[in-house]
Amino acid sequence: MNIEQQIKELREELRAYNYQYYVLDNATVSDFEFDQKLKELQQLEDAHPEYFDANSPTQRVGGEITKNFETVKHNFRMYSLDNSYSKEDLEDWETRVKKMVDGDVNYACELKYDGASMSLTYEKGVLVRAVTRGDGFQGDNVTANVKTIKSVPLQLKGDYPELFEIRGEIVLPFDGFNAMNEERIAAGEEPYRNPRNTASGSLKLQDSAEVAKRPLDCLLYSLVANKLPVATQMEGLKKASDWGFKVPPVAKLASSIEEVLEFVNYWDKHRHELPYETDGVVVKVNSLQQQEELGYTSKSPRWAMAYKFKAEQVSTVLEEITYQVGRTGAITPVANLQPVELAGTTVKRASLHNADQIEKLDIRERDTVYVEKGGEIIPKIIGVNLEERPEDSQPTKYISQCPDCHTALVRTEGDAKHYCPNEEGCSTQIIGRIQHFISRKAMDIEGLGGETVALLVNEGVIKNYADLYALTVEDILPLERMAQKSAENLVEGVSKSKEIPFERVLFALGIRFVGETVAKKLAKHFKSIDALMEASFEQLIAVDEIGDRIAESVLAFFKIETQDLFSEIKQGETHREVVERLRAYGVQLAISEEELAGQTDTLAGSTFVVSGVFAKVSRTELKKLIEDNGGKVSGSISKKTSYVVAGDKMGPSKRTKAEELGVVIITEDDFLAMIAK
Ligand code: AMP
Ligand code: ZN
Repeated sequence: MNIEQQIKELREELRAYNYQYYVLDNATVSDFEFDQKLKELQQLEDAHPEYFDANSPTQRVGGEITKNFETVKHNFRMYSLDNSYSKEDLEDWETRVKKMVDGDVNYACELKYDGASMSLTYEKGVLVRAVTRGDGFQGDNVTANVKTIKSVPLQLKGDYPELFEIRGEIVLPFDGFNAMNEERIAAGEEPYRNPRNTASGSLKLQDSAEVAKRPLDCLLYSLVANKLPVATQMEGLKKASDWGFKVPPVAKLASSIEEVLEFVNYWDKHRHELPYETDGVVVKVNSLQQQEELGYTSKSPRWAMAYKFKAEQVSTVLEEITYQVGRTGAITPVANLQPVELAGTTVKRASLHNADQIEKLDIRERDTVYVEKGGEIIPKIIGVNLEERPEDSQPTKYISQCPDCHTALVRTEGDAKHYCPNEEGCSTQIIGRIQHFISRKAMDIEGLGGETVALLVNEGVIKNYADLYALTVEDILPLERMAQKSAENLVEGVSKSKEIPFERVLFALGIRFVGETVAKKLAKHFKSIDALMEASFEQLIAVDEIGDRIAESVLAFFKIETQDLFSEIKQGETHREVVERLRAYGVQLAISEEELAGQTDTLAGSTFVVSGVFAKVSRTELKKLIEDNGGKVSGSISKKTSYVVAGDKMGPSKRTKAEELGVVIITEDDFLAMIAK
C-alpha cells in the first residue's frame, strides 16, 4: 500500500471512531488505540505534507490563532423565533397557520437547546465555514474554532448535496462544564456561571487549541439551501443524521396541537435527565412546501414557534446566611434554605455571591425568598417576598471578620469579594491549601484524604504542606481513628510524591491564578523554581499567555518579606522558606535532567513558521526543536514572525506573504546551524 493510500485509510478509520464516539456516544476503540492511530497518522502527515488535508482528524487539536474574527454575511438570514408560553398561545398560532395554508398540518417538535447558534456551510461534503448568528444578517467567522469540536463532522458521508448550510447550537454539556469549573476552582479562580455563556465565550477564544480542550458539542436542527433533497423538516433531520451530524433523537412528529402539548409536558418534566441545557420546545410546520407558503415576518418564520419552559422557581424560607472561606481567603456568603424541591433536586443552599448582591436584593435571614434554577448550576435567589417578611426583620449586616479566625476582612478596589488576609493563621485557608496540594492533579498523595488533613491541622500536627514531609508514623498514630497500617500508608504516600514532576509541584503550591496549564507553561519556560522566584514582572509577562494578573500573583507569592523592626516574632514561614524546606525533603523543584537535555534559549524571542517538506527532520521534530531552544512556533505568517523555515514544496502563497512582510526565509540547514551554535 502506498503512503497516500495509507494516510487515507487511517483518516477514514479515525473519522469512523470519532463519529461513533462523539456523535453516537458509543465507544468502539480504547482511548489508547485511538491515540496510537492518531499519532501514526500525524507522523505520516508530517513526513508527507504534500498530502495535507485541512479536514484530517489530526486538525482537531487546533493551534490556529485568530486575532480578529472576520465578519461575514449570512447567505440565508438567521431568524429569531416567536415565543409562546401557554396552550392558548399555541392554539392561536395554529389558527393563523391554518388560515394561510391548505390541507392538513403536521408539526415537528424539537427541543430548544440553550447554547450559541451556529451556521455551518458544507461544500462537496467538506466543512468550509462556521459563522455565529451575530445580528442574523452577518456574524463572525469562527471556522478554526468550530473545527476543533469533535461532533462537528469535517467530512460528510452519504448522499449530501453539493452545497448547503446547516444550523445548530453549540452547547457545553453539564459534565464538561462541571469539570472545567473544578479546574478553575483548583486554580483559585471564580467558576463560570453557566454553560451557555461559557459555550459562546469559547467560540471567541483566539487560540483554537484552547477551544479544542473544551468539551463542546454541536447539536444540529435545520438544513438550509436553495433546493433541499427533502420535503419535510423530519426528513431533513433524518438526512442530516445520515450524513454524520449529531441530531438529537428526541424530535417527534405531532398531528395536532394536543400532541404538541404532550411533547411539551413530557420534556418539561424530563429535560433534567438530558446531558445539556434546554430552555423550551421548538414547534415547526413539518412540510417545507407549507413553510414556504407561510414565509417570514420581519424577524421570525411564521412556520415555527418556540414554547418556553418556565424557569423553575420556588419560594422557601432563608433560614440563615453563613460564610465560607476558600483556600485563597475569599469569602462566599451562602444562603441556607428550608429544603425545597426544584428542577428535580432538593435544594438546601444557594450562593449569594458577595455583599453587593445581598444588598441589592435586600436579602435577610428569615425572609421568604424566590429561588430559581435557570442556566446556572447552583440555584440562585432572585428576589424576596416582602409580604412574608417578619416584622422584627433587620437588614443583613455583612460580616466584617473572618468566621474562622476573626481577622478583619479586607476588600480591594474592583473586587466584589471580601478576603481574610490572615493567610498563615486561618485554619480554613491552611486546610484548603493543603487539600489542594495533595489533590489528584497536584501531588496526588495516596493514603491521605481531606478530612485527615483537617484533623492534622486542627490537632496542631502540621501547619503547611511542607510539614507533611516531616510526618512520622508516631506523629499520626495518636490521632483519632488512625491505625498503624493507615499511618504507614500516609507516610509512604507522602514520600512517593517526591517523584511528582516540577510542573505539578508548581501547580500544587497554590499560587492564585496558576492552574494546571499556566503551571506547565511557567515550568517549561523557567525550568526551575529558582529562576521563577527571581523573575521580574517583565520576564513573567514575556512568557506566552502569561498576563499581568498572573505575573502579579506570582510576584506576590514569592515576595521577599522584609522584617519589620517593631513587629513581634514573625508568625509563619514565608513561601520562600516553605520552598526551601520542600527542596530539602527532595521534592522536584526543577524540570528533570532528561527534559532539560537539549533545551536552550538560543531562539528566545523569535517566532517561527514552518512550511514545506524537510529532508533531515520531520515537521514535528522541527517544531519541537524550535520550542526546546526557546523559540515560538506559529501557524501563520504575520508581522510578528521572525523566520519562516522553508522546506521543499513550500506553499506559494506563504512565500509571497513572507516576502511582502519582509520576513526572513531560511532553509532547514540554516535553521540547524542556528541551534548548533
Ligand atoms: P431566540 O434566540 O429566542 O429568538 O430563539 C431562536 C434561537 O433558538 C435560534 O437562533 C436557535 O439558535 C435556537 N434554537 C435552539 N434549538 C433550536 C431548534 N431545535 N430549532 C430552531 N432553533 C433552535
Ligand atoms: Zn480567616
